[in-house]
Order: sequence, then structure tokens, then C-alpha cells
Amino acid sequence: MMEYDELLKKVLKEKKAGRGERFVPPEADVGQSGQKTVINAEKFASYINRPIKHIARYMMHELTAPGQVDEKGNITIGGRFSRRVVQEKLNAYIKEYVICKQCASPDTQMNKIEENFIVKCLACGAEYPVGKIK
Ligand SMILES: [Zn+2]
Repeated sequence: MMEYDELLKKVLKEKKAGRGERFVPPEADVGQSGQKTVINAEKFASYINRPIKHIARYMMHELTAPGQVDEKGNITIGGRFSRRVVQEKLNAYIKEYVICKQCASPDTQMNKIEENFIVKCLACGAEYPVGKIK
């Protein structure tokens, strides 16, 4: 893990270089605190361009656990979940809410229109509603 920050910097730099870059979301920091799991999702959320609150709601739903988000971008979930489990859920989130279902581009935006979330692909122009998190 020691070179991770270097790698991340490199990836972010490449990302800024323009289109056609590889899509490599940074791993979230996952830690345990008592009977809680703390996920720092700030870099992850900004990389994939999705609100942390939406990611947090997805995580709570998927892990069927209560949780909250603080102003630093930490998602605290009740219960102990391993890094691997958290990362799997984050990957599933990307598949569901980030990657374009039409052309598989990660270059998408999500907008909330009334109560529905709509994903708009900046690569192919597709626009479609995504599943609501209960
Ligand atoms: Zn697309």
C-alpha cells in the first residue's frame, strides 16, 4: 500500500490529461472503529463524480446497516465490514451508477430530476434512469 498515494497522483494526473484515459477509481480507505466501519470515500466520490451521500445510501442498503456521512467524506456504517466487502460494493456501485449501460464509458453524469436519478453519458449521449435506493 505504500506506493498507493504515488500511484493515485499519477492516475489523477493522467485523468486530467483528457479523454481516453484509463478509468481507475482510487480505493476507499476502510477502517474499523469498535463495532463500526469507517469508509473514507472522498477521493473515490470525486473521482467517479457522484455525491458521497448517494454512495453512502447505497452502501447502507447493500450492507443492510445504518450509517451516516460526516463533512470530511467519511461514511460510518454500523457493523464490521472488511475492506474486501466494502470494495466489492463500491465496484458494484460503479457498475450500476457510473458506467454507461449503452457504451460502457465511465464518462457520465448523474442528475436528480424530481425523485429520480438520471445518468447521462458524455461519450455517447445516452440518458437513462437508474435504480432508486430504498
Ligand atoms: Zn455511453
